[in-house]
Amino acid sequence: MMRHGMVRTAFVVAMVATAGCSVERNEVEMGLAEGVDTADLAARVADFAPADIEFDEAALADWEKAVLAKLVEASDIMHELFARQVARENPDWAEQVARRGEDDAATAYYEIMVGPWDRQADHAPFLDVGGKPAGAGYYPADLTRQELEGWIEGHPEDREAFASPFTLIEREGDSLVAIPYSEAFGPELERAAELLQQAAELSENASLSEYLRSRAQSFLSNDYYPSDMAWMDIAGTKIEPTIGPYEVYEDNLMGTKAAFESFVTVADSAAGAELDTLKSALRMLEERLPIPDALKNLERGFESPMRVVDVVYTAGDTRAGVQTIAFNLPNDERVRSAKGSKKVMLRNVSQAKFDQILRPIAERILDPAMVEELAFQPWFTSVLMHELAHGLGPGFIERDGERITVNQALQDRYSAIEEAKADVVGLHNLTVLREQGLYDDAFVRAAFVGELPDLFRSIRFGASEAHGQANLIQFNWLWENGALSFDEEGRITADLERMEEAVRSLATELLTLQAEGDYERAGRVLEEYGGMRPEIEEAVARLEDVPVDIRPRYEVRDLMPEWEQVANRLEAAGE
Ligand code: ZN
Repeated sequence: MMRHGMVRTAFVVAMVATAGCSVERNEVEMGLAEGVDTADLAARVADFAPADIEFDEAALADWEKAVLAKLVEASDIMHELFARQVARENPDWAEQVARRGEDDAATAYYEIMVGPWDRQADHAPFLDVGGKPAGAGYYPADLTRQELEGWIEGHPEDREAFASPFTLIEREGDSLVAIPYSEAFGPELERAAELLQQAAELSENASLSEYLRSRAQSFLSNDYYPSDMAWMDIAGTKIEPTIGPYEVYEDNLMGTKAAFESFVTVADSAAGAELDTLKSALRMLEERLPIPDALKNLERGFESPMRVVDVVYTAGDTRAGVQTIAFNLPNDERVRSAKGSKKVMLRNVSQAKFDQILRPIAERILDPAMVEELAFQPWFTSVLMHELAHGLGPGFIERDGERITVNQALQDRYSAIEEAKADVVGLHNLTVLREQGLYDDAFVRAAFVGELPDLFRSIRFGASEAHGQANLIQFNWLWENGALSFDEEGRITADLERMEEAVRSLATELLTLQAEGDYERAGRVLEEYGGMRPEIEEAVARLEDVPVDIRPRYEVRDLMPEWEQVANRLEAAGE
């Protein structure tokens, strides 16, 4: 642990001298930030609904359980390191917060946020620790961007190490120095490497072993390129681990330092088979887009790097605050250009959000008869179709003899238009696949019903962000085309046949304006359909008690004692 010698707040170092002249840490507990009270914090905790993260344990062989046990243990190390990347004082604060008791709202919220700052409120402190430094725990708290840039200007030989995603910046006297993660977090990363080595020995899949050995080496060498490459080559195994420093969002000073995190996941063969079927239909779906043939994009590649997996365990950056349902890695451009990237969809986390958020939204805004048609699998298939639909339709356009992307043509209006396109093209695709006999009518109906509460998932947080805007466009379009109506109690009923037609006509509109790169037409769609109307606001008002997100409870924690025994047995047998 590096906590000795770290910057501490006056509060942390508050000492009391005892009679015997020895000095002890004051055992006061952590106080709340000014203006924050326990009831307020309890409400914030309640925004995160506890959700069990379960997976199919029965499908796992003994060696797989043993490997997973090692990965879960290594993940806990990632979590501990991430907490220190958030704030160097975090290990001390964690102890002080814990003194408030396990059931205390501050203790719970600290655990959810991995630190004393609220990720749902611009990192405002909820504990009495002051504001969050822009550079989190990656830099000295008092370091400004200006000072850092000045230092690099004066010491060009330091540029590479300072800009590296895998170093911390420290003061040494009057100097600034970059410390590689492999050094700053040396003992912890050595232990994590050891666990990955053990997992590699236990693994009966060569590509998985190769990744685990390579990543173990990265922890020690601080060079993550070879193991990012090996990660892209994992194949023929149920176990898909993603462990190490990845995203840079925690670094608000320079946006370069990578946060430790871990996704320990298992693939499900049925889900994989469905996804393969969808992927193999992509060319046909491009041909069946509701636009003239001349606008279709049949030259594009139709291979997709998507996977569907169930989470066994997550840790570090990804466990803090709102839980992700998908990630796209690696970030290293050298790996992306050599091998592409993987988009990994987390099915059981999606299911938890469906149960805890989507269903309660549906119960509050939909006609009860429609709520009965709601089901997870059709909704999740439409989520996969949304992701695949991003890869359909116009990508490049010709303008004044130049080839530009749709994104360049539509500029600030692109994101909202593209998100709405992915939704409606995805739903349209399901009707095409129904025609082909892949899905039955009830399944497609349920997917359309699921779209309605899904639209409100982001509308409830306002129309300022791309997803909120995209969803308002869809809702208003459906409404104006007679596919939706509000009853006297303000509940929404859909005419699903009309909804299919309206989804198709909106797909035609959005794909056409994308093919034409028509910035003005995109503006008119946003203007005419992107607004919040009183009926929508009334519906949103009924969602106040619906959780914002989930708080994962990992089933694997209960299984660990047994899995560790399995690992011990296999290790003894292998010696
Ligand atoms: Zn999207």
